[in-house]
Amino acid sequence: MPTQNLDILDYCPSCGGYNFIESLEPETSLHYGRLTCNECGRFVKWLRKPRKTPDISVARLLNSTGLEPWEKKFLKAVVCRNLTKAEVIVVQAIANKVNPATVGRGSG
Ligand SMILES: [Zn+2]
Repeated sequence: MPTQNLDILDYCPSCGGYNFIESLEPETSLHYGRLTCNECGRFVKWLRKPRKTPDISVARLLNSTGLEPWEKKFLKAVVCRNLTKAEVIVVQAIANKVNPATVGRGSG
């Protein structure tokens, strides 16, 4: 079974087809890409830019003051490896707490 992207429709609202084409828009476009039906060619929806993993330095966070003991423990555990999605969320939350001014701004 292919994993379904929950962000896209299950079927074409026009013809009920299940085949979609994802195409990227030019850089100048407001949109990242578009989804069109492979059956009838109808425009289905705009695609959002995939979220990039935020660039948060775990090592730097570890040096922050005001960390809870579990937070320190957690950061030490993940500092040397790639974060999973769930861990990124936790790291972000910690970063937001200790450094609210520098996190959470979109980079465009
Ligand atoms: Zn269609």
